[in-house]
Amino acid sequence: MSIDFEIDERTDGIARRTTAFVRDVVLPEEQASDGNVHAGPEPLRRRLQEAARTAGVFAPHVGAEWGGLGLDLRGQAVVFEAAGYSLLGPLALNCAAPDEGNMHLLEIVATEKQKERYLRPLAAGEVRSCFAMTEPAPGAGSDPRALATTATRTTGGWRIDGRKWFISGADGAAFIVCMARTSGVPGDRGGATMFLVDAGNPGMKIVRNIDTLDQGLFGGHSEIVFDGCEVGDDAVLGEVEQGFPYAQVRLGPARMTHCMRWLGVARRAQDIALDRAADRSAFGRPLAELGMVQQLLADNEIDIETGRAVLWRACWELDQGRTAAQHTSIAKTYVSEAVNRVVDRAVQVCGALGISGDVPLSRLYREVRPFRIYDGPSETHRWAIAKRAVRAARERRAVR
Ligand SMILES: Cc1cc2nc3c(=O)[nH]c(=O)nc-3n(C[C@H](O)[C@H](O)[C@H](O)COP(=O)(O)OP(=O)(O)OC[C@H]3O[C@@H](n4cnc5c(N)ncnc54)[C@H](O)[C@@H]3O)c2cc1C
Repeated sequence: MSIDFEIDERTDGIARRTTAFVRDVVLPEEQASDGNVHAGPEPLRRRLQEAARTAGVFAPHVGAEWGGLGLDLRGQAVVFEAAGYSLLGPLALNCAAPDEGNMHLLEIVATEKQKERYLRPLAAGEVRSCFAMTEPAPGAGSDPRALATTATRTTGGWRIDGRKWFISGADGAAFIVCMARTSGVPGDRGGATMFLVDAGNPGMKIVRNIDTLDQGLFGGHSEIVFDGCEVGDDAVLGEVEQGFPYAQVRLGPARMTHCMRWLGVARRAQDIALDRAADRSAFGRPLAELGMVQQLLADNEIDIETGRAVLWRACWELDQGRTAAQHTSIAKTYVSEAVNRVVDRAVQVCGALGISGDVPLSRLYREVRPFRIYDGPSETHRWAIAKRAVRAARERRAVR
């Protein structure tokens, strides 16, 4: 089967409109803000999303039935990268994490009634959401099987107990997709179920908003306690005990959409470095003519182009309906590290200016670092990539 990376006319049009929209509308808003949106300033979100709607670039990833533009993952790769050029671009297009991943999950797994109640307002930008998997030690982290939050049967529903942390966007979210164990014990392979928990549930409480290196995720990252949190049977998302497979439905594409958005940031960092290298002279010539600066700039181009290639490869596979476990792991690991290298080199090219607030590089620098940890740390992905490679080699040997 040939790999098709052709960008059709419609996608190209949306990408061009997104580029213009980010340049003309979003970047001025970003420059006017101090870069910290953890407190979730609602008027800013509403204003940007209304403008995106007017520009015809709102919700590019969601099906037309839910008010979106219905792009496949290869189409999203082009448009999300254009949106990611500003830290506020994905929020404006309503394709930022964690909402974008939750929309995808709900579109695939939710009942029609749940879609009307949760997906429709989410896709329209009327509400925000979050996804709660990670727990403080010894609970779920890199190893989801350590899941310790429990959901036990009650008459007509479930009672959820446990503690989650680093839950992005929780503060101000209308609902939470919560992973809880409905059977077995921490360490078991299965036994997880997803629940839709409304923000007003008295059994659920945000106990703190965590102070973190990054500041650009709307709503920040919270620690949440579920203490006798009662929900009905209609709160179960999909089927009971299918939580881990559903997490993969969400995480495979969600890892790729993170790569898309962060590639936009890498492009922006490189553009800043290219401008500085052309304008600033040292030792009688522009920085751009000094060999070691050229190496930094060239390595950035190589990282961006290679990252985009492995990302598009994984997206193509997902668009074929495959799980693409190996290629999404490769893309996530490569792009998360490449983006960090690109921003770091851009800072170096700009010298002291690079770490000042006069250019946005220092903002980009702190935003990209956590990407090497969430959606699976690099080490966890490398471990899984090697295991799959070894298994495939064994299978090849067995048929020889
Ligand atoms: C900014 C940010 C936002 C987040 N948002 C969310 C969210 O919205 N919802 C949510 O549920 N979670 C979220 N998380 C949590 C994130 O998913 C976890 O941090 C991640 O899964 C790693 O888990 P952990 O932090 O418990 O690290 P641990 O599991 O304690 O791992 C620590 C380190 O151990 C090493 N390691 C792990 N596995 C292996 C291995 N197999 N081989 C070798 N070394 C290994 C890695 O170096 C890893 O970084 C977020 C995290 C951050 C930083």
